[in-house]
This record gives sequence, structure tokens and C-alpha cells, in this order.
Amino acid sequence: MQSIYKALTEIVDEEFVSNQKEELYIYSQDPGMMEPHEPDYVVMPKTTEEVQRIVKLANEEKIPIVPVGGALSLSGLVIPHQGGIVMDLRRMDQVLEVNEESRYIVFEAGVTTGKLKAYLDKFHPSLRFSVPDAPPSATVVGNIVIHGQGRLTQQYGFNSDMVTGLEIVLPTGEVCKIGSGSISPYWFSLAPLPDLAGLFLGWFGTTGVITKMGLKLYPNKKLRDIEVFLVQDPDLVPDVIHRATHTEMSEDIFTGAQPYPPVFKDIIMIGILLTGDSEEELEFKRKMIWNALRCHIDSKEGGFMAMTPEIKQELLEMPTSSTTRFADVMKGGGFEYCGPIIPVEKFPEAFRSLLEITSKYGITFGHAGRVIGRSHCMMFSFGYPFNRADPDNIERTKNALHDTNVVSLDIGGVPWKPETPAQKMILERMDKNTLDLMLRIKKVLDPNGIMNPGNWEVE
Ligand SMILES: Cc1cc2nc3c(=O)[nH]c(=O)nc-3n(C[C@H](O)[C@H](O)[C@H](O)COP(=O)(O)OP(=O)(O)OC[C@H]3O[C@@H](n4cnc5c(N)ncnc54)[C@H](O)[C@@H]3O)c2cc1C
Repeated sequence: MQSIYKALTEIVDEEFVSNQKEELYIYSQDPGMMEPHEPDYVVMPKTTEEVQRIVKLANEEKIPIVPVGGALSLSGLVIPHQGGIVMDLRRMDQVLEVNEESRYIVFEAGVTTGKLKAYLDKFHPSLRFSVPDAPPSATVVGNIVIHGQGRLTQQYGFNSDMVTGLEIVLPTGEVCKIGSGSISPYWFSLAPLPDLAGLFLGWFGTTGVITKMGLKLYPNKKLRDIEVFLVQDPDLVPDVIHRATHTEMSEDIFTGAQPYPPVFKDIIMIGILLTGDSEEELEFKRKMIWNALRCHIDSKEGGFMAMTPEIKQELLEMPTSSTTRFADVMKGGGFEYCGPIIPVEKFPEAFRSLLEITSKYGITFGHAGRVIGRSHCMMFSFGYPFNRADPDNIERTKNALHDTNVVSLDIGGVPWKPETPAQKMILERMDKNTLDLMLRIKKVLDPNGIMNPGNWEVE
């Protein structure tokens, strides 16, 4: 083990290699339900070449490698289940290129969502990317590897649909580029080449380490506003979403529900964000949305919420801090943020299941959902804060998590960023030939099975 440590310090400055207990401890867990497991080493490379040399070493020695971004995916995806090397990529934090005319950006794997937003606000204020509501220390690449969603998802799809190029270190150590960047100096698009990005997105770092990424940027409108539509009947939500997305006027549409404070109990919020370069543009969009939902107002089944400027400001925050605050509502630092991607018409079933499960196990919840594309589907989160110091609370939340994954699949959804037990449920239900294809791809790319073992595996 000492020889691996020494080999790592020959690749990366000793200051950025550790096998010290207190540092291994930090990388052994996340706030979710998965059992902690310590790595043997933590290493923080600065360059693609260093990543390449570490991966080659690990492949020769058959040591597991777990790529880590902000470690905020919360479902054990960065827990080194079989030990080995945790590769923390946050020192690779350079923005490499912004193409204003073709609206794309190229950056390194450790760039955080907070840094990218601050960078664009400062140097390219007319451009923006799809910021998720995760804490700003989450990385853009980590978010995209798990098919995350952000503020532009309702207009343009999953954040991973916005990728224009990748640089990858394969598990066998070769560096390759994906997309137009593989034959041109310009990283503008994955098409018209065969879409090899799919070999790495959604795979949780089990097929290679992304070292650089190209991403679409979008116009940053000067003004933003929000309307919040309230209903009590979950059956109405798909129709509200369908009508609102038909207008093509919104930037982002989210759903929210929680039992506390009591004033929110039994209410489902549908937040509709709007942008414009002038008050007239905003007013036009507002009117379109109001007209689209007029029937539900007239029937008194729903209505827009009056908001103080303070509440509005909070809802317009990007990323919003309220989810992060809610995550620790039980104190003790536990938060399961699970749930599936579902067809929008399944909202009522998912919502009723959420109420049933939380009532069965006597736990609290926060629901947040986000419409993906023109209501092509939605993310429906079952957010369960829990107290790590309370074994009973942990046990009940664990059972709730299990039931949530079963229900998610039963209603026709697909658990998002699933932890290992949910990954197994997915693989068990998957079409057998598709599963076989996945396993063959994995075997070809990672013959020694070193990349993030424990994920997307069939025993
Ligand atoms: C309060 C709160 C709110 C949230 N809101 C949102 C939201 O609005 N939208 C959303 O999408 N998510 C949200 N999340 C979930 C999650 O925090 C984000 O998706 C986050 O961006 C994940 O990025 P990360 O850097 O933490 O990824 P990590 O957890 O570090 O990594 C995620 C996965 O990607 C792999 N990986 C990381 N980097 C690489 C790489 N360079 N190459 C190969 N594989 C890699 C890891 O091995 C792991 O499997 C939220 C989380 C919290 C706590």
C-alpha cells in the first residue's frame, strides 16, 4: 500500500495525495442512506495528464477509482464501496473557452456551478447556463453525469442534453475527445457524429473520467419574475403544466409541496418562472400564462398566490437556498433526495404515494419537482430529511426510501441518480437485451472493472 501511495505522490504533488484517516473519513460518506466506506487514498489531480497517469496506475494494479465532483449527489454514488482511490477533481477548475457567437463554453471537470455562474455573470453577462438548485459547490460535470436538471431544463431538456463535447480518460488510460472537438478546434456540437457521449453520461463514472466538457450557453435575459399557481387537487397538476408549457412563455416550471409550516399543508405550488429583456416582454408573458390558466381560476380550483417582494426574491434566487435549508430541517445532517423521472400525467399517483409512504413511516417530507422540456417528463423528488443521530428515524427513512423506489418503478418512472439498491431494481426490470448491451459496453471500456465499482453492477 505504501508503494501505491508513493507512486501517487510521483504523479501529483504530495500535498494533494492523502492516506490519512481524517481525510479518508471525509470521503467515506455522503448525507444519504448508503453505508459509509473509506477509500485507501485520496488524490487531487490538476491536469488531464495527471488523471491519465493515475488511471493507468490503477488499471495496472487493479485498484478501484471513484471520480468525485462536489459529492452532493446524495445517493452514495461517490462512496468508495470497495475502497481504492478517490479522485477529487476540484483542482481542475479552469474555464478554457467561451464562444460568444456560437454560445458554448469549454471548462474543466472540477468547475463548480457557483464558479461558472459567477464567471459568466462577470465576463459574459449576456450568457447563462442551466443552473441546478444544488448548493453552488456542486460541479457542473457531476450534475451532468447524473442527468441533472436546472433552470433551463423546461426549455431545453435535461442538462445533459446541452453537452457539446467531452474529453475523457478511458479506464485503460487513453485520452479521447467526443463531438466536434474530436476533429475541429471548435467544441460546438456532438452531432453529426455518432453520439459517443452516451457512453459516459448517466454511467456514474463507471466508464471513464471526464476531464473537460463543452456546454451550450443561452441568452441571459435582463429581467426575471415568478408566478406561483396553487391547487389542492393533485389531479389538476398535469393539466396546469400542460397549459403553461403550451404557451412556450416560461423559463422553468417547478412543483413544490411540504407539510410545514401548516399554512402550506395540502397545497401544491406550481412555480412558473419568466424572463424578459423589458417590462413589456414580461407583462406579455405573464398575461399569456394567466390566460392559459384562466379556466382553473374561474372554476375556483386554483389561483395565483399573492407574494411579498421578499418571498418573490427568495423564489427567484439561483440556486435557491430554501432546498438546502430544508435538507437539514431535522438537524443531524441526513437528507435523502430520491425519486423518479416520470411522465407528467403520473404526478397525481406519485404525489399520493409520497403522502402514503411518509404517513406509513411517520416521517416528514419536502417535494420538489421540475418539468423537463415542453412537459415531455418531469423529475418528482421525494425529499426525506432525517436525523443521523436517531437510529429509529434512520430506519424509518430507509424503509421509506425502499418503498419510494418500488413505487417509482411501479408507476412507470425511472429512479433518478439511484443508490445501489435502486440501481439493482432498475437492472432487474430492464429489458434483458438492453442490460446485456450495457454489460458488454462496460466490459469493453473497463475490462478490469476499476471504475466506481458497486455501481450499475449485476451480481
Ligand atoms: C439541496 C439540494 C438541492 C439540489 N437541487 C438539484 C437540482 O435542482 N437539480 C439537480 O440536478 N440536482 C440537484 N441536487 C442534486 C446534486 O447535488 C446535483 O445534481 C449536483 O450537481 C451533483 O454534482 P456533484 O458535483 O455533487 O456530483 P458528485 O456527487 O460528485 O458526482 C455525481 C456522479 O458523477 C460522477 N462524476 C463526478 N465527476 C465526474 C467526472 N469528472 N467524470 C466521471 N464521473 C464523474 C461521480 O462518480 C458520481 O457517480 C440537489 C442537491 C441538494 C443537496
